[in-house]
Amino acid sequence: MESVADYFGSMVFNDEVMRERLPKDVYKALKKTIAEGKDLDLNVANSVANAMKNWAVEKGATHFTHWFQPMTGITAEKHEAFISPVEGGRVLLEFSGKELIKGEPDASSFPSGGIRATFEARGYTAWDPTSYAFIKDETLCIPTAFCSYSGESLDKKTPLLRSMEAISNEAVKILRLFGNENVKRVVTTVGPEQEYFLIDKEDFKRRKDLVYTGRTLIGARSPKGQEMEDHYFGPIKPRVAEFMHDLDKELWKLGVNAKTSHNEVAPCQHELAPVFASTNIAVDHNQLTMELMKKIADRHGFACLLHEKPFKGLNGSGKHNNWSISTDSGMNLLDPGDTPRDNVQFLIFLVAVIKAIDEYQDLMRVSVASAGNDHRLGANEAPPAIVSVFLGDELTDVLESISEGTPLNGKTKQQMSLGVHVLPNLPKDTTDRNRTSPFAFTGNKFEFRMLGSSFSVAGPNITLNAIVAKELSDFYKVLSGADDLYKAANELIAKTYKDHKRVVFNGNNYSEEWVKEAEKRGLENLKSTPDALDKYLEPKNVQVFSQFGIFSPVEMKSRYEILNEEYSKTIHIEALTLIDMINREVLPAVESYSAKVAKNVSVKRAILPEAKLTAETELLKNLTALADELYAKVEKLEKAVKDSKSLEGSELAHYSREKILPLMDEVRVPADGLELIVDREDWPYPTYGEMLFYIS
Ligand code: ADP
Ligand code: MG
Repeated sequence: MESVADYFGSMVFNDEVMRERLPKDVYKALKKTIAEGKDLDLNVANSVANAMKNWAVEKGATHFTHWFQPMTGITAEKHEAFISPVEGGRVLLEFSGKELIKGEPDASSFPSGGIRATFEARGYTAWDPTSYAFIKDETLCIPTAFCSYSGESLDKKTPLLRSMEAISNEAVKILRLFGNENVKRVVTTVGPEQEYFLIDKEDFKRRKDLVYTGRTLIGARSPKGQEMEDHYFGPIKPRVAEFMHDLDKELWKLGVNAKTSHNEVAPCQHELAPVFASTNIAVDHNQLTMELMKKIADRHGFACLLHEKPFKGLNGSGKHNNWSISTDSGMNLLDPGDTPRDNVQFLIFLVAVIKAIDEYQDLMRVSVASAGNDHRLGANEAPPAIVSVFLGDELTDVLESISEGTPLNGKTKQQMSLGVHVLPNLPKDTTDRNRTSPFAFTGNKFEFRMLGSSFSVAGPNITLNAIVAKELSDFYKVLSGADDLYKAANELIAKTYKDHKRVVFNGNNYSEEWVKEAEKRGLENLKSTPDALDKYLEPKNVQVFSQFGIFSPVEMKSRYEILNEEYSKTIHIEALTLIDMINREVLPAVESYSAKVAKNVSVKRAILPEAKLTAETELLKNLTALADELYAKVEKLEKAVKDSKSLEGSELAHYSREKILPLMDEVRVPADGLELIVDREDWPYPTYGEMLFYIS
């Protein structure tokens, strides 16, 4: 039998393949480019392109594509065949360095937020050699960045690479101060844990709401939900297990380190976690993971739901973004270490993160804002919309003692002559107990738990890298001028913690008390996407991104427009879908069932004039009353949708949130009431129970 080691990465033009197939000097030049972000010489590119093509063709590829990540949040590709005709009706298979480095897709139909008028439709894609090319569907996919012709980024990769560069530069400066002379580059690492639902494909196809919007807009709860807590980590059903094995295998071929699979809290909900990687690669791999989940689910007769809230009353799906910073030699800068010198350096990075999160709570919230995720944040199943940091008792104790100049609580720890504390041992599992925190320190990394399951992880990491880079840059200014580095560092740690400890919270984030306490502390509680977006363009936010060239003010404005628009469009599609379902499927179903009941009543009355016929008449009354109510509510919703026509931008987003969504919830009430009394045979949709409990 073929072993995993044989096919792992078999579809990736990875380092091993490059070393094998590229001339030595070309390989070396490429490695230098990858390691140091240097530009690539065209001769080198030609040689790489040729080797790539030969390798891909041997693996059965016929096409190549620049694979990029426009602001739709998913990936885009335009396939080109390798063939190039020659005399005599034959073809040569060609792929040049120029084609590898740069592509020119028509950009006019991708979201640009007004950056690029359609008459300037040209955009270009540029090879990102830091992420390996791979073969998918007989096509050589080349990871690329996507920009407008005037150089503004139109994608999620460009700003991500810029943010990684920024944090690298700033972190290296700090590391040099602490005597780490050899560090050239620092990379942020990410391990995203991906949640998803699997339901039967046939059920999926029978529900317009799932097909058009990814979530059920109506649906009465089934007699059983997740209350027995019997799904989490439970035995995996055979059909699901087959899917998981198949998925792992396909991911492994693409070099994705899929590692852990298990059942999640809700019925039919599962999770996949990879081994962490450099952020850029983690982002690409997570996009591939989501794409393959859908494709392979289909192969197994399933539909994979990546929406944040497919079913009301059950947990939705999120994505935990585990994040850390390491040096090019693999030293994790968020690892507390064993010696005081490492401790101080660690504490500097730690308080930089704390300060960043406190000062940019709003940007962190925006980075996880979407119509889908609004159903989770603050709904007692996911962290609330309030951004806070969990440190755990030991670290909090250390920072308290430094900032107050008091000995460590309860534990006798030596204090070095320079006032440098030796950290207590921080066992990983004691810091990992709090599962309710949106941003938790988990031993040697932070876990950002607010992301929605369908997100590209690029956005949150762009923000995280940018804001931490900003704090490190400010710290460098303070520390580089100090006569006594360790004394200055200690003071900086103390002051920073004192100024920003309001954002540290180790308690239960799901509790009502925390909401009140957070308000007292002056923390933001941005409940919805439009509320969060209102903060996006605040001067401090524009400043932090433009300072490092991650987003120019123009690019931010464009993203702001796109995010508002995407939000309003999502709600608009949901409202139209709901109206369509009610008018064309639900009400007709209720009508035909009511007609049967009415006919029954009249027939029975003729035969049994004395009978009370309570059951039938009460049923008919209820059906009629609920149908009337449903009709009235859907009319109201239709009117609200019509009234939104004159609005746009943020105004439309707020209107969608504050007017349209509540009306949709109102429509749901009589619709779900009807589902519970209409004959199952007449009801047009698979029920929650059928979708969630009938998979074998
Ligand atoms: P959990 O208890 O949340 O499941 P795990 O320890 O299993 O936590 O790790 C979850 C994810 O965190 C995995 O994807 C793992 O690879 C990732 N991870 C571990 N270390 C790091 C790191 N230094 N940087 C980024 N991600 C990491
Ligand atoms: Mg986790």
